[in-house]
Amino acid sequence: MISVEEAQKIVLNSGLKPIIKKLPILESLGLTLAEDIVSSDDIPVYDNSAMDGYAVRSIDIKGAEKSYPIRLVLAGEDIPAGKIPKSKVNPGFCMPIMTGAPLPEGADSVIMKEDTQRDTISIMVFREIEKGENVRYRGEDIKKSSIVFKRGDNISPGIIGVLASLGKSEVRVFDPPVIGVLATGDEVIGIDEKLVPGKVRDSNSYSLSAQIKEMGIQYKKFDRAPDDEALLIKKIKQSLEECDILLLSGGISIGDYDLVKDTLETIGAELLFWRVNQKPGKPLAFFKYKEKYIFGLPGNPVSVMICFEMYVRPMIRKSMGSGKFLRPEVEAETLQDFKNKAGGVNFARVVVEKKDGQYFFKSTGMQGSGILTSMARANGIACFPANIGDVKKGSKVKVYLLGEI
Ligand code: AMP
Ligand code: MG
Repeated sequence: MISVEEAQKIVLNSGLKPIIKKLPILESLGLTLAEDIVSSDDIPVYDNSAMDGYAVRSIDIKGAEKSYPIRLVLAGEDIPAGKIPKSKVNPGFCMPIMTGAPLPEGADSVIMKEDTQRDTISIMVFREIEKGENVRYRGEDIKKSSIVFKRGDNISPGIIGVLASLGKSEVRVFDPPVIGVLATGDEVIGIDEKLVPGKVRDSNSYSLSAQIKEMGIQYKKFDRAPDDEALLIKKIKQSLEECDILLLSGGISIGDYDLVKDTLETIGAELLFWRVNQKPGKPLAFFKYKEKYIFGLPGNPVSVMICFEMYVRPMIRKSMGSGKFLRPEVEAETLQDFKNKAGGVNFARVVVEKKDGQYFFKSTGMQGSGILTSMARANGIACFPANIGDVKKGSKVKVYLLGEI
């Protein structure tokens, strides 16, 4: 049996090679940039107006106020967005300008329409402005030749917008691995089947597929396999054809019908570790098979999900070029006592809340590895280190955040 840290190290150093590919920008959401993005233009590419109003020389309206308006004469043209002004703004003149339109020569600022009153040949200005007010300068957002985003950045909707404004229709990203999910067990039945004593509906394929889907990557959910070596070999081999990492659930413990480990060794998979000093998820096994990897996840529904969080997800994230493998972690204080057996790491399913900048947590209920609702209600996984025994109210431990708190 190895420790959680050793197991995580083996998984992360396993050497699943990142693959880089080019994608249309809208297909890259949630993936990681595999290239630095260098701007080929200044953005914006010309000085322009941030408001609907009048392009002016700020010096001409110095001292203007409600009780002391200053009159400016309308120049002979106006500038809608998209038009290049032909004339310049001379002293004492102004030019109607719309948001996004190029600033005409001579003007150094834009007075908002709301601060003026217009007649047929002139405007009254009721406020003075600073030089540069309501002007968006060339290159103020992005300078030509600058590095805007770096390899390793996670692609967000904002990044996709910027890529579009830089004229980049495609980007190079880390291609996520395809993850296969294969549940095993004679007692496991389909979700449409009638539940009778001795049977359990397959929840693992669904929770695992959902965990993969939550990462924004592709999953393949295969049909269940029974506890039968010949059939397991067939199903596992078929499944491996279609994925880079295969997640098996069930049959990896030491029971008489736990055939997964022996079966994988029979087909020539190399065992990288088996059994981790943790609860839930102790029977976890990890194998290499040719260029692919296989997790033998325990069958218990909570163990499956916790092992995904602690081992599978970090491995996928690493291969996707991300710098952060595990979920964000905080130090949080428990609002209640927890019964806890010393010996291995315990992962408790908890609800985390934040009060006055501090994190607190309480249990989601019964903590057995078969109590899937305790996982379903959790927004955090509290990590009780090996050898600490019962956890007293008020103690602080590391908690991984699964989602919003
Ligand atoms: P095993 O690891 O095969 O000994 O299974 C441990 C427990 O997990 C047993 O109670 C199984 O019935 C249950 N189990 C196994 N596979 C699944 C599954 N796909 N969905 C839900 N429960 C499962
Ligand atoms: Mg079983």
